[in-house]
Amino acid sequence: MQRAPCNYYFRNRFLTSILDFKSMAKRHLITSALPYANGPLHIGHIAGAYLPADIYVRYMRRKHGHENVLHVCGSDEHGAAISMKAIKEGTTPKEIVDKYHEINKNAFAEFGIDFDIYHRTSADLHKETSQEFFLKLYEKGAFKKVTSEQMYDAEARQFLADRFVMGTCPNCSSERAYGDQCENCGKALSPTDLINPKSTLSGSTPSLKETWHFYLPMGDHADWVKDFIADGTLDGAAHHDAAKWRKQVVGQCLSWIDGGLGDRAMTRDLDWGVPVPLEGADGKVLYVWLDAPIGYVSATKQWAIDQGKPEVWKNWWQSEDADLVHFIGKDNIVFHCIIFPILLKTHGDYNLPINVPANEFLNLEGDKISTSRNHAVWLHEYLEDFPNRKDELRFVLTSIAPETKDSEFIWKDYQARVNNELVAILGNFVNRVVVLTNKYYNGLVPFQASDWEVIDTCHAAIAKSQEFIAQFKFRDALTEAMNLARHGNKFLADLEPWKLQKTDPEAVKKIMFSALNITAYLAEAIEPFLPETAHNIREMLRIDAMFKGFLDGHEIGEAKLLFTKVEDEEVEKQMEKLAKPEASAPLSLQGTKSEASSRVESGPLSLQRPFKDNINFDDFMKMDIRVGTITEAEKVKKADKLLQLTVDLGSETRTIVSGIAEHYSTEDVIGKQVTVLCNLEPRKLKGVMSQGMILMAEDSNGKLMFVSPEQGFENGAEVR
Ligand SMILES: [Zn+2]
Repeated sequence: MQRAPCNYYFRNRFLTSILDFKSMAKRHLITSALPYANGPLHIGHIAGAYLPADIYVRYMRRKHGHENVLHVCGSDEHGAAISMKAIKEGTTPKEIVDKYHEINKNAFAEFGIDFDIYHRTSADLHKETSQEFFLKLYEKGAFKKVTSEQMYDAEARQFLADRFVMGTCPNCSSERAYGDQCENCGKALSPTDLINPKSTLSGSTPSLKETWHFYLPMGDHADWVKDFIADGTLDGAAHHDAAKWRKQVVGQCLSWIDGGLGDRAMTRDLDWGVPVPLEGADGKVLYVWLDAPIGYVSATKQWAIDQGKPEVWKNWWQSEDADLVHFIGKDNIVFHCIIFPILLKTHGDYNLPINVPANEFLNLEGDKISTSRNHAVWLHEYLEDFPNRKDELRFVLTSIAPETKDSEFIWKDYQARVNNELVAILGNFVNRVVVLTNKYYNGLVPFQASDWEVIDTCHAAIAKSQEFIAQFKFRDALTEAMNLARHGNKFLADLEPWKLQKTDPEAVKKIMFSALNITAYLAEAIEPFLPETAHNIREMLRIDAMFKGFLDGHEIGEAKLLFTKVEDEEVEKQMEKLAKPEASAPLSLQGTKSEASSRVESGPLSLQRPFKDNINFDDFMKMDIRVGTITEAEKVKKADKLLQLTVDLGSETRTIVSGIAEHYSTEDVIGKQVTVLCNLEPRKLKGVMSQGMILMAEDSNGKLMFVSPEQGFENGAEVR
C-alpha cells in the first residue's frame, strides 16, 4: 500500500498563493528579437536576448501554465544588408536567408531555446500582415510624404542607404568614412559631405537622384511616449510599473526623447522586402524596422493557424488580458521602446509592451565581439565542439549575463565555472545521493517522516529564485538556485552518511531521505536555467516535473554523470581558434539589426572601439579631474606594468598606482604634469593603495601617452 506523499500538506499550502495568481488567467506574450538571417548566431546574441527570454518563459509556463504563455521569434530576412551580401556573393537574398534561417533555427532548438514558433519575415503571411498594418497607419494619416535627393548607384540600379556610401572624410581625411559618420574622427556626416564618394555595392561613383519616402513624424508623439517610458502611463491611465524597467533602458529612451524625436523614413528604395502596398510606389519596400517588429505579429498568426484556430492570435495582441514583454539587446532599445510603441498605438488595436528587459553587450576575451574579424564564439560551433554540454554554456552565460552593464566571456572563466560549480557542487551532490541510495538500498527510497526544515529550505530557495526571475534578475535567480545545490553538498559533507552507515544505519536513512528530497527540488530550482540537467536528474530519480514528495516504495534509477570537467586542452583549442581569425572568417555581415546594421564590413576596419553611449552632463560633472605634477616614482614589486607615483595636486599629494611601467621609466615621469581623476574610489593594487587615476591616451597599438596641459599650469587646477 502506498502512503500519501509526506509533504503534501505543506506543498498544497505553498501552492495556494500561486493558484490565486493563476486564477487571474492572464496571457503572457513574450517575444525575442528576430535575428538577422545573414549569418549564424554567436554567444553575444544568446546572452543578450534569447537565453534570458527562455529562462523567463520556462518560469512563466510553470507559474501560469503553458497555455497562458506564448514565446514567439523568427528570422528577420529583409533589409539592405541582406541584399548587399547577395550582390557581393553573386547569389540571391533568398538563398542567403534560406541558409541562415535553417542554421539558426536548428542552433536555437539544439541549445534548448524553447519558442512556440520560429517564423520568418519572408513568409507570405508576414507580407500580408505588414502591408495591412502599414495601410491602416497610412489611412490614419500617420506618415508624411517627403521628397529629397539621395545617392543612387546607377550600376547596381539602387538608391544607397547612407552606410552604403564610403569616401574621404572632409574633417580628418580618413579614406574609410561612411555616409552617415566618420568612424575615425566621429564626425556625423551626410553622404554628400564625402570627398570622392563610392558606392559599396559596385564601387562606382554614385549620383544624386530625386526620390520620395513616407516618414513617421515621431516628434508628434514625444509627449505621450515620454509619459509611457518615464511614468508607465498611457493616455493618463496606469499601463505598467515603470520602476520595474531597467534603469539603462529608461535612461536611453529618455535621452533620445529629450534630444528631440525627428522624422524617420519608414520606406526604402530596394527590391528586397515587403512592397509598399500603394499605387505609384513601385520599387519601394517597408523599412526593415517597420517590417521586422510586425514579424512578432505574423509569427503569432502562423502559430494560431497551426493550432487550427486562426483567430486566437488576437487574444495575445489585442486583448486587455494579455501582457507583452520584448527581450532584446541594447542596440534595439529605441526601436522597441519608442518606434514600435508609436506604430502600435497609432494603429489602435494593439497592446504596448509592459516591459523591455534589454541586456547590455557581452564582450569576449578583452575585446568586443566582432563578426568581421571572427572574434566570436559561434553557437553552432560550440554545440559541435562541446556535444551534450549546452547546459554548461547556459550556466556560464547566465552567471555573467550583461544585465546592467557590459560583461565579458573568458574561456578560462568558463572552465573554472563549469569545473568548480557544475561539476564540483551540483554534479557532485546529485551523484553522491544517487550512488549512495543505490549502494545502501538498491535504489529503494528509504521512506521517512519528512524533515520540514529541509523541505522549507528547498521551497524557500525555489521561491526566492523565482522572485528574481520575475524581476528579470537572472544572475541573482541562478545564484539562489545554485545555493540549494551548495546547501545539499554541505548537508552531506557535514553529516557524512558514508561514515555513519556502519554505526547508525537508521540515522543514515533519515539523512538520505532528506538528501533525495533536496535533489528532487533542486531539479525544479535549476530547471529554467539548466533544463536538460533538470530532466536528467528527474530521470535518475524517476520523478516528473510536478514532484510533490516521494511515495513509499519509490525506486530510483542508476547514477549518470551530469557534467564532465572542462580540460585545459579544450580551452586552449578554443583560444587558438580566436587567435587565428582569418582561418575560418566566413562571414562578412552578421547579427541582429541595429542602427548600424547596414554597415558594410567590406574590408579591414579600424580597430578603434566604437564610441560609448551618451551620458548626460551631470554624469560628466561627477568626475573630479585635476592637473597634478608627478614628484616621485618607483616600480611596484612583483608587477611588471605598475609604477607607484606621488602626485602633487596643489592642496595635497597622493599616491597613485599607474599601469605605465612598460611605456615610461621612473626617471621619465618625475616632473611631468598630468591630469588625474581624483574622486575614483581608492583601490589596492599589488598591496599599494591607489588614490586616483592618471589619464592616458592609448593608440590602436596599445601605446600609452600622458594627457597634459599644453604648458606648465597650476597644480590642482580643475579640468572640465
Ligand atoms: Zn573623419
